Amino acid sequence: MPFAIRIERTGGPEVMNWEDVPVAEPAAGEARVRHEAVGLNYIDIYHRSGLYPLPLPSGLGLEAAGVVEAVGVGVTDVQPGDRVAYAGGPVGAYSQSRCIAADRLLKLPETISFETGAAMMLQGLTVAYLLRRTYRVQPGETVLIHAVAGGVGLIACQWAKALGATVIGTTSSDEKAALARAHGCDQVIDYGREDVAKRIRQLTGGEGVAVVYDGVGKDTFAASLDSLRTCGMLVSFGNASGAVPPFDPLLLSQKGSLFLTRPTLMHYTAKRSELVALAADLFAVVAAGLVNIRINQRYPLAEVAQAHRDLEARKHTGSTILLP
Ligand code: NDP
Repeated sequence: MPFAIRIERTGGPEVMNWEDVPVAEPAAGEARVRHEAVGLNYIDIYHRSGLYPLPLPSGLGLEAAGVVEAVGVGVTDVQPGDRVAYAGGPVGAYSQSRCIAADRLLKLPETISFETGAAMMLQGLTVAYLLRRTYRVQPGETVLIHAVAGGVGLIACQWAKALGATVIGTTSSDEKAALARAHGCDQVIDYGREDVAKRIRQLTGGEGVAVVYDGVGKDTFAASLDSLRTCGMLVSFGNASGAVPPFDPLLLSQKGSLFLTRPTLMHYTAKRSELVALAADLFAVVAAGLVNIRINQRYPLAEVAQAHRDLEARKHTGSTILLP
């Protein structure tokens, strides 16, 4: 019988259990996928901890790559034997095998391995919508990307450079700063030691940046607002340091008629046509070598608790995969 990670309650990494979980035949519209590699994402920690509530008991994980083993009635997008990958709900990707709606699956190009597929789908599709839909980065603009050495961060950095932007990134150590620079980041700010908004004003001749991509949340929110040019946009898309507390929208006016959005990948890929279009953008930049997917950590899926501990302790860079 296949194994999967399950939780009965929210809490620390210890709530995750490796269990026998039977997998049914695919229902109408579903495919059964045997996972070859599973992606680790920060959102998995929000699900495990309860920041983003799930009905319990529950599986975890939103991203994997593998082979279609069987399909249910009415499935035409994929067939048994296809190499596929996916990113998004419902949770359950921390498993050796599962059934999932077939219209969420994307066929993996031959040039992309299962490991790379599992590492890149959620973070890469996120970068695709953040840079190409939420705020369309233009050549010559300066953008600020927080946690630039992380999974989303390293992909966003390379993609923004490919679009012709100047990239300023933040991170927490010299090693991570060097990694970001090696992936094209023009300027790196250590946000543990430096005043981010002040540095941004220095680096932009006082103007501020066109857009801030902020997946860090609580600790960076104020500096993000203070780093924008007039009518700039804060894209607040995550909470690695904790959720942003409530704030007064009048601040947006006082700080320069700013825009604030709090997007999520699920809404930008709700229609299959949108999912397929974003995936095509992603596969194209990876195939062209403009975005290199860095798998910097690998763990057995059964040892995902350690992967969560290390991610929360900021030990990771780039993307991480779990091997089922
Ligand atoms: P990362 O690999 O970026 O890991 C998180 C990084 O955040 C850490 O490596 C660390 O980098 C930084 N960080 C800053 N403060 C803290 C803190 N107090 N505790 C832990 N880490 C901290 O993760 P992902 O690439 O998976 O995700 C990045 C963000 O994007 C997350 O918030 C995630 O939820 C969000 N996200 C949102 C999506 C959406 O559609 N809204 C979709 C996908 C991801 P450093 O050491 O450099 O500070």
